Amino acid sequence: MTETFGADFLVRWLIAVAGAVDREADRLTELDSAIGDADHGANLKRGLAAVTETLAKEPPATPGAVLTAAGRQLISTVGGASGPLYGTLLRRTGKTLGDDERVTRARLAEALGAGVTAVSQLGGAQAGDKTMLDALVPAVEGLRESFWAGRAAAEEGAVATVPLRARKGRASYLGERSVGHQDPGATSSALLFAALDDTARAEGAA
Ligand code: ADP
Ligand code: MG
Repeated sequence: MTETFGADFLVRWLIAVAGAVDREADRLTELDSAIGDADHGANLKRGLAAVTETLAKEPPATPGAVLTAAGRQLISTVGGASGPLYGTLLRRTGKTLGDDERVTRARLAEALGAGVTAVSQLGGAQAGDKTMLDALVPAVEGLRESFWAGRAAAEEGAVATVPLRARKGRASYLGERSVGHQDPGATSSALLFAALDDTARAEGAA
């Protein structure tokens, strides 16, 4: 039987993401201080704290509604580039899931795929440009196979940004000097998929 996941699972995922970002905020900010403006950890921490609060106050009834509400909250709380980009990822993923009460991993992967396409359209970046897409694109492919494969692919994608030259976002202003540093957004995207795997594992689903 194929396992399905309800709104509560998506809420637990986002709470796990908030916890991971809280623990890793200093590292994210350090990475952003090398090739950006040293606010990525603080940006996401603030955004995810607001997301957690919104979800606790009024937990939406469907997986799609959880992600849509979280995305909206990120867009309105995070000033940096990552707010609208992650907000768009979650909103488009949520909209793609529609009103379904429960979703499968395959369905979630498909919807996240639509979310990642929306991120690419909004920011004009592709995999290889040294952005969050370098983790997100392979992560969605991995997730079609398993939660673990999604996690591993995201982490691999984030590490693979080190030798790349940034072509989008603030880091692109550095040109060649962006080479040799891991992209902060790809690193936080890896946290997203690690938390998803952890959440699935806690359900005995991974
Ligand atoms: P800001 O760059 O405005 O300070 P953050 O520091 O919060 O915002 O986020 C920086 C991260 O956002 C980068 O490491 C990169 O992964 C991601 N990013 C920036 N621009 C783009 C873009 N056009 N497309 C995809 N991701 C992007
Ligand atoms: Mg920044």
